[in-house]
Amino acid sequence: LGGCLASALFAIATVPYLSNTFMSTQRLGVDFGMWWAGEIVNCITILPIILFFPTFKEMGKYLKNIKLNQFHLTKLLPLIAIVISVTFTHIFTGPGALLYPLAALIWAALSYPIFIVAIINSIVCLVTYHSLTYFYLSDSSSAYLSTTISVRIGLCMLGFAPLVLCIITSNRRELYKKVLYLANHDSLTNTINRRHLFEKGERYLSEAKSHSVSLVMLDLDHFKRMNDQYGHHTGDLVLKHFSQLVEDNIRSNELFARVGGEEFLILMMNTTLQETQAIAERIRNKIELTPMQLPQGDLLFITTSIGITHQSLPTELSLQNIINLADRALYRSKALGRNQITIAS
Ligand code: GH3
Ligand code: MG
Ligand code: MG
Repeated sequence: LGGCLASALFAIATVPYLSNTFMSTQRLGVDFGMWWAGEIVNCITILPIILFFPTFKEMGKYLKNIKLNQFHLTKLLPLIAIVISVTFTHIFTGPGALLYPLAALIWAALSYPIFIVAIINSIVCLVTYHSLTYFYLSDSSSAYLSTTISVRIGLCMLGFAPLVLCIITSNRRELYKKVLYLANHDSLTNTINRRHLFEKGERYLSEAKSHSVSLVMLDLDHFKRMNDQYGHHTGDLVLKHFSQLVEDNIRSNELFARVGGEEFLILMMNTTLQETQAIAERIRNKIELTPMQLPQGDLLFITTSIGITHQSLPTELSLQNIINLADRALYRSKALGRNQITIAS
């Protein structure tokens, strides 16, 4: 706004006094308005494209997202709506033409990233400006002059509204993602929480897209003793250390959740009992052999007991029933001396 005002002031202070110019000293007020409104239309069509120009990293991320989500033609519908509404501004010209693209622009603002919205806005503003100019000029050139400032300000508002809407929506979307992450994850270990595990696990069971489900239940051995000896803060660090080790030894599509204080669950689909057992053994071994370094420099060795259950799908059992089976197997591991694996019969 400041830049537009400054350039308009500079223009009326200099241009009318040059020879052979299109501006005259008799109508400085109108010329000021024309120049200023012209500048704000330039700003709304060009500035957002520069401000929101994506970095290489953002561009790569966006293209990757498109590839991952597979491109659907429905994604183009807002753009098609814009093309149709802008075409109409040429066919049914009149003062209302300024607002023809508004609904489609709002749709695009809710569907596309800000940089794309900025480009679309820019093109829409230019084309609509052309339609309206043509309409007013065909009436008479003086009618055009008296309405130009109002048309330009109207266009600026038309371009401004979708940008604001797009920014607000993308901020809300980011915030929603953050809140959803916090709602679904344990804040100490960043593993998924009990509620989210049940939500996802029950969906897996009911969809029955897989032929089997394996549950691995893990419980740290003598954790209370560790808390008593080293303090709760060290206990918390042990939980983080433990979950990181487990996370490093499972695939990303397997669900790893903290279901109690020092109790964790891994849910795997389409994994045979032998494979599940091998993964559990690898984890048990890794935990036993990877001590955590205490702040004083000492090494703290930990172990974990494990219970496994494997079920073919579909099954009559609920997720809770299957967890109970793994839990019972886990307690058998505890009773047999800890740091071992038991498979539910
Ligand atoms: P066992 O080998 O039989 O499993 O013995 P244990 O001591 O590991 O099991 P027990 O259930 O007696 O104790 C679990 C302890 O875990 C008790 C509780 O204070 C501790 N705990 C639970 N949640 C947290 C936590 O978030 N941080 C810390 N530091 N300790 C926790
Ligand atoms: Mg324990
Ligand atoms: Mg326990």
